[in-house]
Amino acid sequence: MTDARDRRLGMNRRISRRDFLNGVALAVSASVMRPFPSFGLDWVDDAPEKAPGYYPPALTGLRGSYEGSYADAHALRDGRFWETAAATADTGEEYDLVVVGGGISGLSAAHFFRQRAGRAVRILVLDNHDDFGGHAKRNEFRESGRTLIGYGGTFSIDSPAPYSAVAKGLVKDLGIDVGRWQRVVDGKLYASLGLRRGVFFDTETFGADRLLPMPGRGDDDEGADSSPAAPGPWARFMAEAPMSERAKHDLRRLHQERKDHLPGLSSAEKKARLARVSYARFLTDVAGADPGVVPFFQARPHSLYGVGIDAVPAQDAWGLGFPGFQGMGLEPGPGRGMNLDSIRHQEAESYFFHFPDGNASVARLLVRGLVPAAVPGRTADDLVTARVDYARLDEPQAPVRVRLNSTVVRVRHRGDASSAPDVEVTYARGGTLRTVRGKTCILACWHTVVPYICPELPDAQKKALAYGVKVPIVYTNVLVASWTSFRKLGVNQVYAPGGYHSGVNLDLPVSIGEYHCARTPDEPILLHLMRTPCKPGLPARDQHRAGRRELQATTFETFEREIRDQLARILGPGGFDPARDIRAITVNRWAHGYAYQYNSLFDPFWLEGGEPPCVTGRKPFGRIAIANADSGAYAYTDGAIDQAHRAVGEVLA
Ligand SMILES: Cc1cc2nc3c(=O)[nH]c(=O)nc-3n(C[C@H](O)[C@H](O)[C@H](O)COP(=O)(O)OP(=O)(O)OC[C@H]3O[C@@H](n4cnc5c(N)ncnc54)[C@H](O)[C@@H]3O)c2cc1C
Repeated sequence: MTDARDRRLGMNRRISRRDFLNGVALAVSASVMRPFPSFGLDWVDDAPEKAPGYYPPALTGLRGSYEGSYADAHALRDGRFWETAAATADTGEEYDLVVVGGGISGLSAAHFFRQRAGRAVRILVLDNHDDFGGHAKRNEFRESGRTLIGYGGTFSIDSPAPYSAVAKGLVKDLGIDVGRWQRVVDGKLYASLGLRRGVFFDTETFGADRLLPMPGRGDDDEGADSSPAAPGPWARFMAEAPMSERAKHDLRRLHQERKDHLPGLSSAEKKARLARVSYARFLTDVAGADPGVVPFFQARPHSLYGVGIDAVPAQDAWGLGFPGFQGMGLEPGPGRGMNLDSIRHQEAESYFFHFPDGNASVARLLVRGLVPAAVPGRTADDLVTARVDYARLDEPQAPVRVRLNSTVVRVRHRGDASSAPDVEVTYARGGTLRTVRGKTCILACWHTVVPYICPELPDAQKKALAYGVKVPIVYTNVLVASWTSFRKLGVNQVYAPGGYHSGVNLDLPVSIGEYHCARTPDEPILLHLMRTPCKPGLPARDQHRAGRRELQATTFETFEREIRDQLARILGPGGFDPARDIRAITVNRWAHGYAYQYNSLFDPFWLEGGEPPCVTGRKPFGRIAIANADSGAYAYTDGAIDQAHRAVGEVLA
């Protein structure tokens, strides 16, 4: 890009992007004192959380797993950590339970432990990030005197399978009335303004930049509102889409014809065949479509799978409602080896709720129950605008303490696992190393981390823990001064199959308690952009590894330029000017995102049987149990809750 182009995009504009450490590798070891990464504040009384102005949701720039949050964990992984580690100081603190990981699973574990063992028990929750909630993170922005709230990760209470009684019970205990969803969302707002789903064809992939109404359903993203596909979009698609005539014809045929592409086979035989071929190969080799249709569908599964149709089994594509299977006589019901995301349940579909900050509200409600002094208010409604007092999260007299900015680097029994009285947990915080003791310990952190912090586990278990590769994913919030360009172009969600981000949405119009969504296009709003970096052609786990490497090497400046460029190209014809209209950007970079879910193309045990690695990996060991969504190989909040419940049962057995 040229400097002139950068200026047109507004790269030089003063916006809220407080990423002063971004791109600078923090080559510090645990033995070096350093300022608190995301605030640039010095540690106050040994606790940055007590510093005035400590309020992570309001930080913009590069968030999620921000620079500095993983330096200690990566040093441990690379075998460098202990070489330079400071001397360990014993805090003398003793707990009934120490939880590693302050995401929804870790916080739920603390909740269930108290429920079963009594409110007098003492619990410590440790997390390496500056905020609690794990992936369930809140982003806040200020514009024109009002606060806009966005989600930096976990979007909603929803799951492909029905919530278990345990998970539903927790949601209810937290005061969330899922049945109220239709009353808090203005599901007709965008449709009433004539906004629909669109698809953006980009020059690099399709030869021209063009925004068109989305033909077909295309509703497998996270729009979750009621704006339909545009009426009669096929005519415009056939006339204007920058694809070859043959590809367009085949794309329409795939949506509309009822043809059995595997005649002579039973439904079960067809499903078995479809489980072993990618949707991309199905389209071209089985359904005989022109290869030109593949780029159109390529990114459709990104939001769920983190990979494109080259790595999604055709059987899963059928489950997801992708076109091409209408005439194949496939009996309802899942086939063997289907990814859990592709098995739809009616009961699950009606169990949906979205707070403006997504499931950060679930995490905040959990913390309100555990550490009431830190989260003011009483209801799920007043929680939406409540400001957490981070200084109160870790108070010596409180039965439950949540300690942020603390990376656990070692968990070991004091003695033989079968007879030790307790577990010693060592964590790095601000360049110091401290230990605490717990009668029990739940590792609710990512499975990939566990073998490094708990080397005493059996080798087979460590191998199983290392199997899943979390899906790298970026959720970006862009604060814009208005959304008149969306209005002019008639879109509220755009699928961009070849774009840097594969989707751009207007924020869902949700009003809860004192919080009110933008209702007119001249009001400020948050745009939500999603990217799942991957490397088509490789097995899914290798694609995730490649995507993770890419994310860790991407600077905020690169993200910002891509955001500005893509929004200018999609929305420019509607009058959008990135230099003028963008007010703030928060890039939530999750290099370790969704829990890995098994895939019939690449995980033989999933298709042919055998104990999945998550079951081997999550076995309890002495006084230690293992939770996290990874334990169920299921990337959903209910999975994180259910696994916490199991782990608590194990440590209390
Ligand atoms: C972008 C995104 C969107 C999502 N959207 C949805 C959605 O809409 N609905 C849904 O149900 N699910 C969604 N998910 C899945 C989500 O991961 C789960 O719902 C759930 O929040 C996972 O909770 P968890 O506690 O198991 O893991 P996490 O949230 O990952 O929490 C684990 C915590 O442990 C910490 N940790 C790791 N190592 C250490 C260490 N050594 N010391 C201390 N702490 C450590 C991590 O940093 C993290 O904070 C989404 C995930 C992502 C990434």
